[in-house]
Amino acid sequence: MAKFPEAEKRMFKDVYICYKCKSKIRASYEKVKKKVVKCRRCDGKAFRPKNKTRAKG
Ligand SMILES: [Zn+2]
Repeated sequence: MAKFPEAEKRMFKDVYICYKCKSKIRASYEKVKKKVVKCRRCDGKAFRPKNKTRAKG
């Protein structure tokens, strides 16, 4: 499988992980920053970007 920077960007861009339950959520950076998004599983509002998590968990 070839690796395209574009594809990776598309996969990880705007994807965030909930700190509490570690579920994935799609949201724009703006929304996460403004805390408009809520985790649909635990209602948490703390997220970290997906692309910073490397082979962890
Ligand atoms: Zn959560």
